[in-house]
Amino acid sequence: MEAKFYDLNDLVRADCHDCHGCSSCCRGMGDSILLDPYDAYQFQIEGQPVPALLESGAAALTVWEGMILPHLQMNVTTQACSFLSTDGRCGIHDHRPGMCRLFPLGRNFSDGKMNYFLLEQACKNKSRSKIKVCKWLGIEPAEKYHGFVLEWHDFRREMVHILAEGEEEQAKQLNLYLLRTFFLTPYDTNNDFFTQFAQRTARIRAAFRE
Ligand code: SF4
Ligand code: SF4
Repeated sequence: MEAKFYDLNDLVRADCHDCHGCSSCCRGMGDSILLDPYDAYQFQIEGQPVPALLESGAAALTVWEGMILPHLQMNVTTQACSFLSTDGRCGIHDHRPGMCRLFPLGRNFSDGKMNYFLLEQACKNKSRSKIKVCKWLGIEPAEKYHGFVLEWHDFRREMVHILAEGEEEQAKQLNLYLLRTFFLTPYDTNNDFFTQFAQRTARIRAAFRE
């Protein structure tokens, strides 16, 4: 069966009604909950910037196609995310990462565009209701956030290509520079995230044009 794709304003059967006490996708996720710069900004608002997450073990670094990226770390003993409370709720719900907001949807990138698909079997709740994709993600302005995710995807692809071509030491230096630029250097949380992200990517692309 062909996958069905959804745009931001389409209705999709993803609404699992506040999860009803289920916390299945907050456990045993390995290193799959990758963080992006928007998540870094949100964690900073939450008072837990990425360096603090790395220090506490709530997050760790992984290598994704040659690029170093932070991800949420599952507890070694319980295999639960550090932000999952004892009553099975997300302790940072308003600022939770984009990957957590997305589930049970996935993102599809094709021809310079992005849309969404439903991971039909992944969510334990089988009586989900229909909801608009943008409402499910719950980030405003939805179009700007959508544009950011697409841009971050394209930017990562560019960097992965450059990293693959460079010498080992050059690749290591670039990786550390990217990590510092997007995850370790604080954002100004009184100002628009999307503008700051655009400035950071423009700075790096300019450096490669020189
Ligand atoms: S941040 Fe919240 S929603 Fe995401 S895995 Fe952790 S507890 Fe679950
Ligand atoms: S599996 Fe579905 S119902 Fe369970 S926590 Fe994840 S999104 Fe919610």
